[in-house]
This record gives sequence, C-alpha cells and structure tokens, in this order.
Amino acid sequence: MTDTPFSFEPVSAGDLPRFAGMPSFMRLPHVPMGSDHFDKVDIGIIGVPWDGGTSNRPGPRHGPRQLRDLSTMIRDRHQVSGLRPFSTKNCADLGDCPINPIDLMAALDLISGYYTKIAQAGITPLTAGGDHLISLPILRGLAQNGPLGMIHFDAHTDLADSAFGGVKYHHGTPFRRAIEEGLLDPKRVVQIGIRGTKAFGDVEWGLEQGVRIITIEEWYDLGIKAVMDEARQIVGDHPTYVSFDIDSIDPAFAPGTGTPEIGGFTSLEAQLMVRKLGGLNLVGADLVEVSPPFDQSGATAWLGASIMFELLCVLVEGMG
Ligand code: MN
Ligand code: MN
Repeated sequence: MTDTPFSFEPVSAGDLPRFAGMPSFMRLPHVPMGSDHFDKVDIGIIGVPWDGGTSNRPGPRHGPRQLRDLSTMIRDRHQVSGLRPFSTKNCADLGDCPINPIDLMAALDLISGYYTKIAQAGITPLTAGGDHLISLPILRGLAQNGPLGMIHFDAHTDLADSAFGGVKYHHGTPFRRAIEEGLLDPKRVVQIGIRGTKAFGDVEWGLEQGVRIITIEEWYDLGIKAVMDEARQIVGDHPTYVSFDIDSIDPAFAPGTGTPEIGGFTSLEAQLMVRKLGGLNLVGADLVEVSPPFDQSGATAWLGASIMFELLCVLVEGMG
C-alpha cells in the first residue's frame, strides 16, 4: 500500500486520522505468523473471534473486530506511569487466531496449536476474545514448562464442572479444566470480583483446591491496595497469566457482555487494579467476553480496549 519503511510504532494520527484506514489493534503493524518481521515481535496482540463456548447470550465472536476499531483511539503514553509501551517493546497485531465456528473441540485444538507456536516464538500474547473458554487452549499453549499462576478478574469463577447433560467445555469451565490438566497451580490462582446468583458448586470446589476467591463484598471491605498486594504475594515471582473478563466490571459501564452481574467494578477501579500488576512475571494476558451485539455503541469495547492497553503496559513492565 505504501513504501514507508517498516516500523513497530503505531500509525501516527498526524499521518492518518484515527478514524481512517484499516483498523489494527492500537494502530500497530499487522504482523501475522510467517510474515517478515514476526521473529522480532516481543508482544503480540491476537484476536480470537470465537464464542462456541457460550452458554447463554452469544456475541463475543465479534469482539476482536470491534475492539480493534475502538482501540484506534488509544494514544502511545500511559497517563500515570508515562510508559510508552510501543517504543519500549516491539508490539504488533498478529491478526486473528484460526478457529472453527461450528466445531468446539476442533476450535480448542486450533487455538492451543496456535498459542503453542506463539510461545515457541518467544512472543508474549495479549489476547482479545472471544468467550472465556478460549483461555483454556491458550493456557495449554503457554503452560509448556509447568503450571502457571493466574490473576483472574471476573464476576464468575469459571470453575464449574459441566452443563447441558455433562458437557465439560463451555465458558463457565475453563479454569476447572485448566487446574485438572495441570496448566494452573490452584494455590497460585487468585479470582477477584466474584458475585451473582450461583448454582454450580464452583466456589466450593475452588476453595478445596486452594484457589483464593475474593468476592466483590470482600474486595469492597479490603480495598484495592490490600487485595492487589495479596494477589501479588500469592503468585509471587512465578510465571503468571492474567485473565480479565469484561463482566467483572459493572454492567453500567460494560453492558456489552453475555452474562452481566450487577454490583461490579467501575472502569477506574479496573484500571487501578491492573496497574498494580506491574513487575510481575507475566507470560500473557487476555480480555474476554466483549459482546458487541449487546452494546452497539462501542462503549464496552472502548472500555475493553482501554483495559487491554493497561494490560499491555504491565506486560511491558514485567519484561524489564
Ligand atoms: Mn469468565
Ligand atoms: Mn464472567
């Protein structure tokens, strides 16, 4: 399209207005697996446009495209730390992970195969979902050298066992499967923001495994600093994954999601918590469950894209 030299910097709004051109995550270069500059990528932003694990209201298959669009409003400098992530590490939009929209088990294999290659390439992935089941095959790809820790923001534990007559794989089960498969060390898993009416036995099972489950009420009583200090202590300096379900945030701010629960974080509280993850040994992060059909205004996707920028900054900070 142009013969300007390749750069890992986002397209400047001075060169091309933010609403113009083809959108990529944060206006970064599109560097798919197998292309020229792939081996120089430090952090790859990846879409997983798949919601075959959704049990109720679908739509997150459309998340990556709307998140890309809204993410074009993100500028290059963090408002608090001053970090310029795109100048510090080579960041790129790797495109979308291959999926199968009608065969759940085939989709899981495609996603885990792709993330295995991402890990082998030494790229730290920042993923835009997709429903929350995608975190399971992502962890299968990333946990090649033993179980990971995880800091998980969600209204739900996603530790349920099964649904619909024994189906083991849906977006309420990824972390139960991940613990069973040895991908996560349950004693280094922290879940923050858990709430809502329950019927699954998921919390009880998680507590038995040693998962630290911080309900929204306990979070409210303890406060952000105490919660995040504890979370950092639990994962320690071990390799840790961050999974952020947009439904952890209150539906007043994030209505575009399939399983909303009232009484959640504000946008600012979510930002303040993610910022506390800087310096941890992070192997990747995801932002899942943005469902554009339930918020065609794009407000939820803008919030999701902004949380992705916060996640990107702590991934960069953790890389030293
Ligand atoms: Mn979830
Ligand atoms: Mn959830």
